[in-house]
Parts: sequence; structure tokens; C-alpha cells
Amino acid sequence: LFFQKPAPRSFSFSLSFSLSTMSDPVLSNTSTLKKYLELPQQGHVMAEYVWIDAFNEVRAKTTTLDEKPKSVEDLKEWNFDGSSTGQALGCDSDVYLRPCAIFKDPFRRGDNILVLADCYNSDGSPNKTNTRHDCVKVMSQYASQKPWFGIEQEYTLLNESGSPYGWPKNGYPGSQGPYYCGVGTGKVYGRDVVEAHYRACLYAGVMISGINAEVAPSQWEYQVGPCSGIEMGDHLWMSRYLLCRVAEEFGIKISFHPKQMLGDWNGAGCHTNYSTEEMRNPGGINAINAAIAKLAKRHLEHIAVYGEDNDLRLIGKFETNHISRFSYGVADRAASIRIPRSVFKAQCGYFEDRRPASNIDPYLVTSIIVETTCGNF
Ligand code: ADP
Ligand code: MN
Ligand code: MN
Ligand code: MN
Ligand code: MN
Repeated sequence: LFFQKPAPRSFSFSLSFSLSTMSDPVLSNTSTLKKYLELPQQGHVMAEYVWIDAFNEVRAKTTTLDEKPKSVEDLKEWNFDGSSTGQALGCDSDVYLRPCAIFKDPFRRGDNILVLADCYNSDGSPNKTNTRHDCVKVMSQYASQKPWFGIEQEYTLLNESGSPYGWPKNGYPGSQGPYYCGVGTGKVYGRDVVEAHYRACLYAGVMISGINAEVAPSQWEYQVGPCSGIEMGDHLWMSRYLLCRVAEEFGIKISFHPKQMLGDWNGAGCHTNYSTEEMRNPGGINAINAAIAKLAKRHLEHIAVYGEDNDLRLIGKFETNHISRFSYGVADRAASIRIPRSVFKAQCGYFEDRRPASNIDPYLVTSIIVETTCGNF
């Protein structure tokens, strides 16, 4: 009786039942797993190819190499089933992965690597999801101006059922105030994930420059930069991959939504700090002002690529200017563009574009900033 095939109806019933109401334990870091991870790799290297799908999320799969590559040129072009990632139709489903950048793999360690790749169709044209391809062109066109970026990635930790991590089951935590850069029980939520991610980024070679707890409980930030040109998008995407992987081991989900909690809770952004060589040099404040004047003229074109649902976040409250308005100011966190006080004092340095949302595609955002400020607008 036990070996009888279940009737189709009861099978589909039990499947949907188990998906919606039960969950298996998170199998990670068990002593059983550790035994296998100690086995030698016999000289082989595992290369985890990471790419961006049609939903602005990362995907990844692994291939075995016979030796450690010295640069991306040593890595093969690979492919995947684009019909399963929203990147191709089933009838012509092969999408090609071209290696762009190599990082160390903090999960497998040793000589194992992470490979950031961009996506091409079978006819050689860039896939519709490949925003890196055009970003490279923009960055090389204006390379002589030496653009640098630093992005402040904000995000929210969620539990497996999708509620903010650590929030009471029925009700809300106390109002905002003690959480930003908070210290101590009841003020910080999920620091383990943040610490693990920070270390994983440093190990991998991602240019992470700091972390802090954010204004809403279970909301955090890390900064990546300064990075020059195309590096900004590459490093931010790899940092997101690392965050989702680290959180997976803790059974925690990452939300990059700009307004995860509606109501009196801060939204999440990707403040984009930016400078050219002229801005960084003595007297650079003139170049900063000139760039801001150009940004003012193209506000709506920038907003168009500054993230989905950003209108829920840019409401003229919670340290934002309204999405329909453009303004700038020294040390003003309610402005679209902030010139840091220290930069104003030194009369050179960089400025902060506060408009981009947490779910931006950094290739689009860095491209348009360089285009607008270095081009003839
Ligand atoms: P905030 O005060 O807005 O919270 P953060 O300290 O979080 O600022 O982030 C500042 C960011 O500015 C960092 O990512 C840093 O790398 C970046 N940054 C610093 N100097 C420059 C520069 N000259 N050009 C571009 N970005 C810079
Ligand atoms: Mn297969
Ligand atoms: Mn910050
Ligand atoms: Mn912040
Ligand atoms: Mn900021």
C-alpha cells in the first residue's frame, strides 16, 4: 500500500498544501555538509557565473574549470535557458553569458571564483536586459573626465513569510528614532547578516566602504565605492548577489523595494555620490554647480530610470524631496541633490544624488549621470 502511486488529485492537493503552509528546515552548514566540503577539488576550480535576469534580480550557475583563470579572457562564453528567466522565448531560448569581471568566492573559498557576466542573444546582439553593454560605451566615451561613484545601498531584511525581520507578529515596533545606527537589543534587527555580508564583500574583492543600521527597524545600508566608471555597476551587482546568498543561509529574505513598509517608515534608496576629476580638484565646486544645473534640466528623464515604485518613496517626507520637484542644497537631506558640508568647505569633492531608489539598475543610473553632466546638455 505504501508504494502505491498516489492518485493525481491527491498528489496535487498535497503539493499545494505543502508549498503554502509547511516549510522544510533550512539545510545549511550542517556537519553532514561540512564533511563533503572538506573533500579536495583535485585541482579543479568552480566558477559561479552571475547575471541579471529580466526581473532586475541575480541568477547564477556553476561550471568546472581545469585551472584558475588569470583574467576574464581565459573564461569561456557560456549560455543558459533564457526562457526560464524572462530573457528569451522558448523557441529561441539560448542566451549567452560573456564574462565581465572576476571576484573571489567567499562561499566555496580557495581558488573558486564568482564571474559577473552580461547577456547576449544568439545573433550576437545584447539581450534586452543587458544595460551594461551601453553603460560601457558611455563610460569609455567620457573616460577622460574620470567619473567616480559611491552608492549607498539600502535594503530591508524579511523573514521567510515576507514580514520585516524581527517585527512583532501582531502589531508594530516602536516608532522610528532609536534604530538609525542603533546599538543594543530592541534597536537592531539581524546584525549577523550584515556582518557576514560585509566580510564576504571584503573577501570577494567588492569595494564595500561601510555599513550602518537605517532609520526603520530591520532596514540597513552598505556603501560601495568610490568606484570608477563601469566598476560601480559591476561591484554593486556583485554585492547584491553576495547579500542574497548570505541571507539565504540565515533563512532571511532581502527586499530591495523602495517602500517595503507603507506608513510612517522611511523608504529605501540608493543615494548615488558622484564626482569627476575636475570636481575633485581645487575649485571643483564650480564644476559641481555646473553639473547640478544640467541635472535640473533633465529631472524627469533621470526619474524615469531611478527605480520602480520610487513615487512611493519620493514624497517630500522622510528625508526626500517630492518626485515632481528638483532642488539642491548644502547638507540638505530634503533636497534632490545634497552637497556635503565638508565638500562646500573644501570647495571641491563630490555631490550626492538622493533620488535613486534601492531597486535601481546601477548601469542605467551611472550612465545617465555621466551623460547629463559630461555631455552637452
Ligand atoms: P551619507 O552621509 O549620505 O550617509 P555615506 O558615508 O553613506 O554618506 O556614503 C558616502 C559615499 O560617497 C561612499 O560610498 C563613498 O565611497 C562615496 N564617495 C566619497 N568620495 C567620493 C568621490 N569623490 N566621488 C564619488 N563618491 C565618493
Ligand atoms: Mn538542463
Ligand atoms: Mn549613508
Ligand atoms: Mn541611508
Ligand atoms: Mn546618503
